[in-house]
Amino acid sequence: MKCVKCRDKAAVHIRRHNSAFCPACFQEYFTNQVARAIKEDHMFTHRDRILVAVSGGKDSLALWDVLMNLGYDTAGLHIHQGIFEYSASSFAKTTQFAEARHAKLITIDLAAEGDLDIPGVVSSTRRTQCSACGVIKRHYFNRVAVEGGYTVTATGHNLDDEAARLLGNVLRWQTPYLAAQSPVLEATHPRLVKKVKPLYRLSEYETAAFAFLRGVDYIVEECPFSHDAIQLQYKEVLNQLEQRSPGTKQSFVLGFMREGRQAFAATTEVHLKECPSCGYPTTGTVCGFCRLQQEVQKAQAGGRK
Ligand SMILES: [Zn+2]
Ligand SMILES: [Zn+2]
Repeated sequence: MKCVKCRDKAAVHIRRHNSAFCPACFQEYFTNQVARAIKEDHMFTHRDRILVAVSGGKDSLALWDVLMNLGYDTAGLHIHQGIFEYSASSFAKTTQFAEARHAKLITIDLAAEGDLDIPGVVSSTRRTQCSACGVIKRHYFNRVAVEGGYTVTATGHNLDDEAARLLGNVLRWQTPYLAAQSPVLEATHPRLVKKVKPLYRLSEYETAAFAFLRGVDYIVEECPFSHDAIQLQYKEVLNQLEQRSPGTKQSFVLGFMREGRQAFAATTEVHLKECPSCGYPTTGTVCGFCRLQQEVQKAQAGGRK
């Protein structure tokens, strides 16, 4: 197959677009797709200060790489989860990436933040790894952005992530989550920073190809805790559908954004209050992060008796 742009030998095939690109044209295509999402979905401009959540995996590092190349004002935020070898290696890849590009990287070490490392939290509460990790990460991304004066937080969620999440939300008719599933979530409170997902139109295969072609050294292993995660099962099912009819994931996700989300958003009222403990907005009384922190402290106090 030949590159659809320059007729050179193609290296990356994109079946849902029925096209193929040589390495150079693919990088251009990928970058254009990101730039288009940023512009069309009104994610941010060159005046914004963007905090990029970087795990050390292909998606987040590819995202940071593209945003820097497009000339945006960015800093990375890495959360060290304390998950044995996996976290040490994620941290190393992230640091290497930032140093090589002289980019600003902020690191939060959860073990040092009130014993919130993921294995510790899981052993002292009844939470599952992924739910505890999600609560903690969301809290710090927002808090670090607010405190540092960043106007937008960006994550590397790709089309496969969004399709799997959408499928999970639909299967259980999680209406509040469906209302909130969007590549752009505006800041609806002074202490809530706008959240965006600039890679949501690009597949996992495409971000992996981009990271590889750009020579990004990323952590290939999945989080050791994510193996039984239901999200991976949804991805498998979606991959089977995609195999038979390319474009399924894209029409599922983009179609939902176009046709479905507004209907759920219209019926879901969100009342934000300030958490009495940390002051950050929450829909409950005490926010999820502070509740988790209290559970950990209580378990530790119990353990010391
Ligand atoms: Zn080409
Ligand atoms: Zn709180």
